[in-house]
Amino acid sequence: MTTTLAVANQKGGVAKTTSVASLGAALAELGHRVLLVDLDPQACLTFSLGIDPENVETSIYHVLTQGTDAADVVLETEDGVDLLPATIELARAEADLLTRTGREHVVKMVVEELEDDYDWVLLDCPPSLGVLTVAALTAAQGVLVPLQCETLSHRGVGQLLDTVHDVRRFTNKSLEVWGVLPTLFDGRTTHSRTVLETISQTYSLDVVEPPIPKTIKFAEAPAAGRSILATSRTSKGAQAYREVAVNLVERAARPRSRRRAKG
Ligand code: ADP
Ligand code: MG
Repeated sequence: MTTTLAVANQKGGVAKTTSVASLGAALAELGHRVLLVDLDPQACLTFSLGIDPENVETSIYHVLTQGTDAADVVLETEDGVDLLPATIELARAEADLLTRTGREHVVKMVVEELEDDYDWVLLDCPPSLGVLTVAALTAAQGVLVPLQCETLSHRGVGQLLDTVHDVRRFTNKSLEVWGVLPTLFDGRTTHSRTVLETISQTYSLDVVEPPIPKTIKFAEAPAAGRSILATSRTSKGAQAYREVAVNLVERAARPRSRRRAKG
């Protein structure tokens, strides 16, 4: 069984891409076969896995809009995960797909084409609630919401959950919210913890543990073209992502009825 997770939050800079790269590497360390899909025209995931988008000729853009075979576009990376890369061309996909019948299902079709080869598919969403994010939510069993625990960070969570409800109604009724993943977490203050508790209670959301600590090590990883699990193996940040990955594996193995209890 393949588990497909969308990592989504329309706010930029909340560590969506970092979480996809790090959780992908952590799941690969556990022996799982992992596909990462870069759905952001900024192509930060592609870049941070050591692939220069400028050198990518066919990308997820061609798969989503021109019918190119996904298998022909998949790249292997040094982190032990496979990648469907993006380039800046993906910025045109929203416009190209807007008038296309079935546009919500384009990512799902890609996942279905490839899923036999993978245990996990992680979808790195762009910082918007547009066509690509809706298509990712339509393809996913679960959505993980990275959240920086600051005073104003809950703004937008309601909007994201409204989108999730629409997706459940119209295109993917079994979509589950797996929870918020606290990122850029400053454990030295009680403030982060308080914000997290408020958000989780206000929106009845599970919290995926443990929080990912804010550390300078993360700034260095993308330039090295590897995730923090390789560039800083024993750092607290790498270790936290490993623990989150173990918890995701455990959750994926739980029977659906129990998982839905709180979803
Ligand atoms: P998003 O995909 O949500 O826009 P990114 O994953 O690109 O967010 O992260 C935004 C910035 O924050 C990047 O420069 C990244 O290196 C940095 N970052 C991510 N996680 C952490 C962390 N735990 N500690 C410090 N910096 C981080
Ligand atoms: Mg990103």
